Amino acid sequence: MPKNNKIGIVVDDDFASKNIPPYPHPIFLSYETPLRIKSILTHFENRKIFDNENIIKLKPKLIDESIINLAHTKYHIDSIKNLSNLGSGFLGEEIYITKDTFLLAKKAIGGTIQAIESVINQDVNQSFALIRPPGHHALREKASGFCIFNNIANSIIFLREKLNYKKKIAIIDIDSHFGDGLVQYFYDDPNVLYFSIHEFDFVEGEIGFINELGEGDGLGKSINFPIPMHCTDDIFLEFMDILEPLLNEFCPDLIIIAAGFDMHFSDPIGNCSLTSNSYFKFTKRILKISNDICMGKLVFVLEGGYNLIALPFCVHAVINALLNEEYEPPTFENIEFLEKCKIEDITKIKNSLKNLLANYWISIQ
Ligand SMILES: [Zn+2]
Repeated sequence: MPKNNKIGIVVDDDFASKNIPPYPHPIFLSYETPLRIKSILTHFENRKIFDNENIIKLKPKLIDESIINLAHTKYHIDSIKNLSNLGSGFLGEEIYITKDTFLLAKKAIGGTIQAIESVINQDVNQSFALIRPPGHHALREKASGFCIFNNIANSIIFLREKLNYKKKIAIIDIDSHFGDGLVQYFYDDPNVLYFSIHEFDFVEGEIGFINELGEGDGLGKSINFPIPMHCTDDIFLEFMDILEPLLNEFCPDLIIIAAGFDMHFSDPIGNCSLTSNSYFKFTKRILKISNDICMGKLVFVLEGGYNLIALPFCVHAVINALLNEEYEPPTFENIEFLEKCKIEDITKIKNSLKNLLANYWISIQ
């Protein structure tokens, strides 16, 4: 494993100051706030993380509207633009619009493209796009769940259509919620592996079932690993028993992490019970795999994560793992949880998923 990885971090002051939710707190719409990025940047500045010579600050790539049009309908783009020009508005219960929404959402795509291009061009070894609004719920024709445009899908389509990058890509979505927008872009695509780990309500039902495996040439390449509520650090990484052989067999040229941190126990929206240490351990595992199969080409793109105290530690944990440094979790995470899901519950899901995937993957038996 290389000792001195260069880590690119995409930052821009606009992400930390613009598109302020209409209500300060405590309703749902208030959670996707510039304070999410501001809290991360403040934490990094206090700990002099940007002074590390292996950290390279990157700016979002400037893009024009035609790039958004690669992944979204003209109508969707126009409606976001028109509402932004008006200066306010709502799209359902999960999307607020301000005068800054269109430009900031465009910049979030540019930030994601910059993070990916820097890694593909090997200007840096790995990267992290600290962007917002998030993207993995956004659909071609509609915003959804705080997400205006689909940052990762849009970036991949841009790479393929404008930069002629046709290699295989693996997306690992660790946000607490299923990436129902992101999965749809590549459902029939044999060259994009989408693997989602998400909380799942096994009683009431949810989105992101294990038997939604893709279609046509993409069959077997969309993989859902639903986990029960109250999942804790000790059993979270059980999904690696499936993901690791799949990545080795698929052998992508690039791994993109849809990095939501709303499985943290303090998150106001997520229902899992992780600490930041899970994100440290996950990153170490995935970095090792990426070093083995794709020259360490690994990109993190921020999705969810809404507790302003916990989010900076989760991102810090990822950066430390990428830097091959140790990580000391904060003392407020020393908690004995009252409810925990059982290892048997996860083993059952793992075995059911293995049975399904054995039809498509040699490495899964
Ligand atoms: Zn989420």
